[in-house]
Amino acid sequence: MSNNCSVIRDLIAMYADRETSPQTSKIIAKHLEECPECREYYEHTNNVVRSMKQPPRGNHYRYSALARQIRQRNAIIVSAGCTAFFTLGVIAAKLMSSDR
Ligand SMILES: [Zn+2]
Repeated sequence: MSNNCSVIRDLIAMYADRETSPQTSKIIAKHLEECPECREYYEHTNNVVRSMKQPPRGNHYRYSALARQIRQRNAIIVSAGCTAFFTLGVIAAKLMSSDR
């Protein structure tokens, strides 16, 4: 492993994340063409970056969908509660008025 390789490998995570500048990306891409060891390292890093990125993104969507469902359910419970309270009030009022 040359000095060049250690520099490339320092940048490879950023490169896999597409956060390197176009010039740096070009240097890395050229090095990867010439260096099978770094290419293997890049492929591994790329897999790790991808596997790290996807599950949290999926979870994030699931959490926001869940939060929305909970919010909707709470709204339904609140309105159902209000309706029940109102209905009980009406029934109570009717019962009381029929008593008299
Ligand atoms: Zn290399």
